[in-house]
Amino acid sequence: MAYSVVSIAGDGIGPEVCNAARSILDASGVVFDWQEAEAGQSAFEAHGDPLPEATLAAVRSADATLKGPTATAKGAGFRSVNVALRQKLNLFANYRPARSLPGVKTRFEDVDLIVIRENTEGLYSGLEHTVVPGVVESLRVITQVASERIARFAFQTARRQDRSKVTCVHKANILKLSDGLFLKTCQEVAAEFSDIEFDDCIVDAAAMKLVSDPHAFDVLVMENLFGDILSDLTSGLVGGLGVTPSANVGEKIAVFEAVHGTAPDIAGKGLANPTALVLSGVLMLRFLGEKEAADDVENAVRGVLAEGKSLTGDLGGKASTGEYTEAVISRL
Ligand code: NAD
Repeated sequence: MAYSVVSIAGDGIGPEVCNAARSILDASGVVFDWQEAEAGQSAFEAHGDPLPEATLAAVRSADATLKGPTATAKGAGFRSVNVALRQKLNLFANYRPARSLPGVKTRFEDVDLIVIRENTEGLYSGLEHTVVPGVVESLRVITQVASERIARFAFQTARRQDRSKVTCVHKANILKLSDGLFLKTCQEVAAEFSDIEFDDCIVDAAAMKLVSDPHAFDVLVMENLFGDILSDLTSGLVGGLGVTPSANVGEKIAVFEAVHGTAPDIAGKGLANPTALVLSGVLMLRFLGEKEAADDVENAVRGVLAEGKSLTGDLGGKASTGEYTEAVISRL
């Protein structure tokens, strides 16, 4: 049986890393019926809409979606495709694992943690308006429903993966109402999961602790903007943006994408590291229930990284995107 998977190439290095990831996933033995759809700057230029209705419809009816990064112009008039995609499809959980990779030298060894980010509300939703000239207001909405849903997702993830602890990251000492509600809701959900330890940490202290002792953490759950920032930090603990995958998950729909953006500085040069999107593809294989193929692709990636002969520039090597991709495929 072929899986119907939407492929959104996106902007910048998106098409390069998407092609690489697709050829590696095709070599895994699982059969994909790729449905190409457009989003981002390229879709805006072609259709006047960065997130065409046809793309949303395709994502809704597919088994899963593999998405390259999409550009978001700074300033007014162009809404983030990612924010719109997550809100319109109710992809309420953003799952961002950070796990040390062989051959990728960083300050710490054996980092293995997961950032779980609420994906639909908080400051990141970009609800802003000008009150009077020179004064703008950004709304930070936190609801009990969304907080409970993400807390439950974090505990269920911990339980499924045999992990021991969930940490709620917040700023409830200052944002007493909004983060107070988020923390209280996490505490209430924690009471239902007595097999999993629960603690909480103020976001600034969490940032400090993550860079000094990342082994103190296991699963971290937080609101949208804190998750956006801290997941780039945790990506830095394991080798950077070129190697960190993610999944945006809803009740039935899931969109898999790298944590990184369009990397305009290296786009079109064959220098991009496709590992992050390939490992997002591994998360997609697991979501589809293809455990064996997921393990095979993950082991092939880890093997190439450990060998160190075909690394891309961001990891200190000289290989092109294509050479790295061939090296991974040769191990499948
Ligand atoms: P970025 O992640 O695109 O780049 C940051 C740095 O990391 C750059 O030096 C880049 O070369 C490097 N880098 C990123 N991915 C890499 C890879 N796969 N291989 C090697 N090096 C890599 O962040 P930015 O420059 O802040 O953002 C550029 C654009 O991407 C913006 O328009 C932003 O809105 C967008 N963006 C999109 C997404 C998404 O679609 N999910 C996520 C983040 C940023």
